[in-house]
Amino acid sequence: MNVVYGPVRSWRLGRSIGIDPISVEPKVCTFNCIYCQLGSKGIVTDTRSLFVKEQAVGEQLAALLRRKKGGVVVTFSGTGEPTLASNLIEMVEVVSDLTDFPVGILTNSSLFHNPEIREAMKLFDFIVAKLDAACEGTYQRVNRPHPSIGFRIVLENIEIMRKEFEGDFCLQIMFIKENMRDVDGLVEICDRIEPDLVFLNTPLRPSMTRPLGKKEMRSISKSFARSRCKMVYDVECEHDWGTTKR
Ligand code: SF4
Repeated sequence: MNVVYGPVRSWRLGRSIGIDPISVEPKVCTFNCIYCQLGSKGIVTDTRSLFVKEQAVGEQLAALLRRKKGGVVVTFSGTGEPTLASNLIEMVEVVSDLTDFPVGILTNSSLFHNPEIREAMKLFDFIVAKLDAACEGTYQRVNRPHPSIGFRIVLENIEIMRKEFEGDFCLQIMFIKENMRDVDGLVEICDRIEPDLVFLNTPLRPSMTRPLGKKEMRSISKSFARSRCKMVYDVECEHDWGTTKR
């Protein structure tokens, strides 16, 4: 598997070079979301491991930067939860030495309570943090987390991370019919923690779960009127990453 790939076009990030610090199939994640585009097979764990050596990231990124011009951001994501990689700090350091592009991470927010991960997060220019539920019941049904990671831990630590983090802090919410009743609760959470951006998503890529239609997503979007939002059916995001330092 390619640890470094792209650049790819993303509705959230614009043009992005991807880094997959897990790079295994099936996925390794702290969740097993019912809509996961990687399928339902895989390992659900809360234990961090070494999956890919940081030297491999450096070599592949250097080669890609030589071959391909352009790219707007570098994003850690991939075949599972990127914060499960125990050498995440070393990987970000290698990437930051090779490029001046803003470096960010797509994470499911489940390990923000871990002090080592909080340290790693400080190295990023932007974080896109998943939050699909406003209560334990929906969280268990939609995200199917590792038993050690309850909803309260996730939400409390998203709030702490939002306060601590100095770069762009974005929330991403995947809407499907199973969490539509949590819209008001999620709006209230967004009003309280004031993310720099809220991405309102529904699974348009092949998934075990049906996406919501444009009409439903536009209606949800209106509920989030007090937050700065981007919705998946809208045009590509043009946010200027790394410029929202507080
Ligand atoms: S957090 Fe992401 S990778 Fe993990 S199960 Fe959910 S959608 Fe899949």
